[in-house]
Amino acid sequence: MAGRNVAHIRGRDLKAYRKDAQMVFQDPFGSLNPTRTIEQHLAFPVRKYRREGQGRVGDLIDELLAKVGLTPVAETRRKYPHELSGGQRQRVAIARALAVNPKFIVADEPISMLDVSIRAGILKLMNELREEMNIAFLYITHDLASARYIGNRIMVLYGGKVMETAPSAELIRHPAHPYTRLLLAATPGTRHQGPLPETSNRPPNLLEDRVGCPFADRCPLMSEVCRAQQPPLAEVAPGHYAACHHPG
Ligand code: SF4
Repeated sequence: MAGRNVAHIRGRDLKAYRKDAQMVFQDPFGSLNPTRTIEQHLAFPVRKYRREGQGRVGDLIDELLAKVGLTPVAETRRKYPHELSGGQRQRVAIARALAVNPKFIVADEPISMLDVSIRAGILKLMNELREEMNIAFLYITHDLASARYIGNRIMVLYGGKVMETAPSAELIRHPAHPYTRLLLAATPGTRHQGPLPETSNRPPNLLEDRVGCPFADRCPLMSEVCRAQQPPLAEVAPGHYAACHHPG
């Protein structure tokens, strides 16, 4: 974060990092403690990281719940996680992340376990928070359509490597990498949607020493050079990069 390798920070630096960077997990049923009320979930980070007096802690909890749309707040504060729906629990998880005033939130598949009907509400909330509170979100998903909705920039990974990255609209309109094009072909509602070619479904073996392109086993455009050399991430248009020997 901010150019630092966070794998090695410790002590006071780690505490400061935890305040700056928060996480919203995929499973809103597992990420909250079933024995704690919603108030307790929010009071802990507020006390620990904001060092507020008892009176102010209550006000901040009310503000956080109102910000994520969990009203009436007095009622929500007293509830336990099992008394909330999946979407409401994910809103609590977002409020908990906001409780320390972060600069950056990693949201790992935050809507994949929710009903389709409430997914849009969570994405809308994240977009609003991004704009109002100037928080950067790293949104991890398998769903390109929702990535486009929330992201300024999309990065497509395969086998732990960056295949393509570009501003969201550019990547969706002009995908350069065969893997991105296949993902879009499988995404309902995009103009790229269409039949998928007959290719292997074999996932990459992350343990073997790889020489060529990680996507070679599944790529319809694979050629000899793809097996021999790993393609570098190269600029194919301003701000648009793809790791492919034969970008489209
Ligand atoms: S480098 Fe070759 S195998 Fe890899 S994605 Fe591009 S065309 Fe396909």
